[in-house]
Amino acid sequence: MPAIKFRGVDFIDFDTLLSDDERLVRDTARKFIEDNLVPIIEECNRAGRFPRELVKPMADLGFFGASLNGYGCAGMSNVEYGLVTQELERGDSGVRSFVSVQSALVMYPIYTFGSDEQKNTWLPALQKGEKLGCFGLTEPDFGSNPGGMRTRARKVGKEYVLSGEKMWITSGTIADVAVIWAKVEDEGDKIRGFLVETDRPGFKADDIHGKWSLRASVTSGLSLQDVRIPESNLLPASSGLKSPLMCLNQARYGIAWGAVGAAMACYDCALQYSLLRKQFRDQPIASHQLVQEKLAWMISEITKAQLLVLQVGRLKDAGKVQHQHISMAKRNNVWMALECARLSRDILGANGVADDYPIMRHLMNLESVKTYEGTHDIHTLIIGASVTGIDAF
Ligand SMILES: Cc1cc2nc3c(=O)[nH]c(=O)nc-3n(C[C@H](O)[C@H](O)[C@H](O)COP(=O)(O)OP(=O)(O)OC[C@H]3O[C@@H](n4cnc5c(N)ncnc54)[C@H](O)[C@@H]3O)c2cc1C
Repeated sequence: MPAIKFRGVDFIDFDTLLSDDERLVRDTARKFIEDNLVPIIEECNRAGRFPRELVKPMADLGFFGASLNGYGCAGMSNVEYGLVTQELERGDSGVRSFVSVQSALVMYPIYTFGSDEQKNTWLPALQKGEKLGCFGLTEPDFGSNPGGMRTRARKVGKEYVLSGEKMWITSGTIADVAVIWAKVEDEGDKIRGFLVETDRPGFKADDIHGKWSLRASVTSGLSLQDVRIPESNLLPASSGLKSPLMCLNQARYGIAWGAVGAAMACYDCALQYSLLRKQFRDQPIASHQLVQEKLAWMISEITKAQLLVLQVGRLKDAGKVQHQHISMAKRNNVWMALECARLSRDILGANGVADDYPIMRHLMNLESVKTYEGTHDIHTLIIGASVTGIDAF
């Protein structure tokens, strides 16, 4: 079977809904992924290796903090940024996760809640990829319900002392700075964000091994034992659980686009394969109605997902997006991508389980993407609360 090369997916002239600049950004990211990530990703996935060599080239293309302005950031629109994450995740969800964390969960909170000194110190270095960051919200006992967190910050003189455990933290062991969310004892346990340099005494990060998903991304546990940081490391404008949730909204938006990319990769591979693979009367399997039904389902769902996330992006660019819009796009598009990965895997038969093709990797990756940044069911409850006015958590 010859190697299958991605050809793009556009059933309804979706490209005509994009501006010239948006198409240029998408095509640049697509070429970068094709030339640099696709050739190495299966090896990275097998080895459980994050392709760190791509950090600098991705920084040079403006992928980090792409939708922020100033500090060397590219100042892309939200739709442009979304198209970048689509292409990144067409390559691999783990690499897209790295970029999402660096951009939406580290640079965004510093940009939004940080002091001028924090912004000037960290944002240019994070944008250039000279410094890497991680975001510590989840704890061993608190995932979907982060408000229950046990990590505490105590004010002692001109310092804060942080203690607690964080779990499932992307980029934890490669980060130079961790955005840590903790309850501040002197402020009635209000949740606030802190910048913790990872070389501070008492800070420890260890990788989680044995993951069958996002193997090209680093995932770690963090331990903070009486870590002392200057009071100037508090993100001054962070205030309550709403602050980390604002960060998650940024990341979820990128995921909603990214999932379309993963779905496109699986669908296009399955379509090309089905035209090449012959079974019964020397006919391609694409000639069988049951195979066509799967392809028709996938292209319909991908097309609807593209339209949904484009509209959410347009609302975001107009400053009108609501968190429930982003929840709908994340929930729908990740579910859709996972279903496409399963159907595509099926169309490839036994070849579908081998890493000569990208599908099984996408399938395994998407299981994490369905869970993190608000599980599928948590987003169901967010949409439910939005339409009924009744909180069902
Ligand atoms: C690879 C990976 C990377 C990650 N990276 C980060 C990171 O960088 N930073 C970070 O802070 N976190 C990160 N996470 C953690 C992620 O955000 C959590 O896994 C997620 O929030 C879910 O929490 P949990 O795993 O504890 O599941 P739980 O909250 O225990 O949920 C388990 C199940 O119960 C369901 N459930 C829970 N509550 C309800 C309810 N009220 N009603 C109905 N169903 C409910 C859930 O939908 C789910 O199906 C990462 C996770 C993974 C897998």
